[in-house]
Amino acid sequence: MKQTVEHNWKTKDEQYVWHAMKPYNPEATFIVDKAQGAWLTDIDGNNYLDAMSGLWCTNVGYGRKEIAEVAYEQMLKNSYTPLSSSHLPAIQLSEKISKLLGDEYVVFYSNSGSEANEVAFKIARQYHEQRGDGSRYKILSRYRAYHGNTMGALAATGQAQRKYKYEPLAPGFLHVAPPDQYRNPEAVINQEPTTLPSVQAIDQTLTWEMGETVAAVIMEPIITGGGVIMPHEDYLRGVKEVCDKHGTLLIVDEVICGFGRTGKAFGHQNYNIKPDIVTMAKGLTSAYMPLSATAVRRDIYEAFTGAGDYDFMRHVNTFGGSPVACAVALKNIEIMENEQLFERSAQLGAQMLTDLQTQLGTHAKVGDIRGKGLLIGIELVSDQTTKAPLDVAEVNAIIAACKAKGLIINKNGVTVAGFNNVLTIAPPLNITAEEYDFIVSHFVEVMNNH
Ligand code: PMP
Repeated sequence: MKQTVEHNWKTKDEQYVWHAMKPYNPEATFIVDKAQGAWLTDIDGNNYLDAMSGLWCTNVGYGRKEIAEVAYEQMLKNSYTPLSSSHLPAIQLSEKISKLLGDEYVVFYSNSGSEANEVAFKIARQYHEQRGDGSRYKILSRYRAYHGNTMGALAATGQAQRKYKYEPLAPGFLHVAPPDQYRNPEAVINQEPTTLPSVQAIDQTLTWEMGETVAAVIMEPIITGGGVIMPHEDYLRGVKEVCDKHGTLLIVDEVICGFGRTGKAFGHQNYNIKPDIVTMAKGLTSAYMPLSATAVRRDIYEAFTGAGDYDFMRHVNTFGGSPVACAVALKNIEIMENEQLFERSAQLGAQMLTDLQTQLGTHAKVGDIRGKGLLIGIELVSDQTTKAPLDVAEVNAIIAACKAKGLIINKNGVTVAGFNNVLTIAPPLNITAEEYDFIVSHFVEVMNNH
């Protein structure tokens, strides 16, 4: 890739921009000039199919004119009203989110997935406190899961590598092992979800920690950044039962799984449960504007609507739920519904699993191919029997080889400290049949050369 004399953006980029993850994977970064549909064009004119949707977030693809127009019009009509008052886009979007969830939820807005989770933790603690149950403050989550970068959301995160430089984080966070069906396959007994060992581990932890001190359990329906960890189909139902037994709220983090990524509006809808609190971001606006939401079951919200001075939630933020972001989210969801992108994700995802399993199922370095909807993980191993993770240099070489062919994928998962051995594929949900073929054929070709 040549750098022309007319621009020295790469030098200036090095000089002035602090990149979050660049030293960790230098091959993965480049300077993007334009983006359209599923495609990125860098400043040298190279084209790439973005099969990671940015950070799993550009669900309707790039460059949607109708979204840009809505933002433009809303900026001219009313660019800002704080949600201590209200505005029509927030009302309409809240109704829409509530309907997508099953019509029983009230919605609080923030700007990022991390903040949405912080809000969920605060709501859970205050909810219990206002019902006379003030000793409930602990939050339980899973190792290998990621829940955000702020001191509470990072405390809930179960990836020590991301945390140890910044500790001490917020106290009161507990972790249990994730339900990894590849490394620890498990089964229910007598069709009873609570008999799953991974569910029993939560039940026991809640008992040993004294369930009456635990405010909430937080989990993604499918752990995404931790390596697309597929739970047993009955796991979430078992977890919900155990949470109800101990009186703890279940917060479901839909920051990645939401808005069609797993083939349904929300990931938990694959598993037939009703969470107490649902957090969402990313696909909510397909990353056209920063916006996140914490949707709370109405009866929980009602604990905050009493007459006392201290009943209401003291958490406030300036930008959350801005009219422009809400209008953009509404248009984004309208596009998803009109183009039936949830269904498309389910169908293309199932097809991709089948195609990859057929073509790579016996590859020596492919331990497992898994996912739901257009959320696909390919776990690479150096040994099929021991399931030892493939060395990170080899994983990086595969990602770089894909990039050289114009295909952007990524790696995730922390199976063993320092190893991110799960390749991830999560393209925009509206990729065409040709783009689908581009992803599968190039990925398979690269894998067959390794
Ligand atoms: N939860 C999950 C599951 C996430 O993947 C992320 C971000 N990747 C977050 C929360 C935090 O979101 P944000 O980066 O918008 O703060």
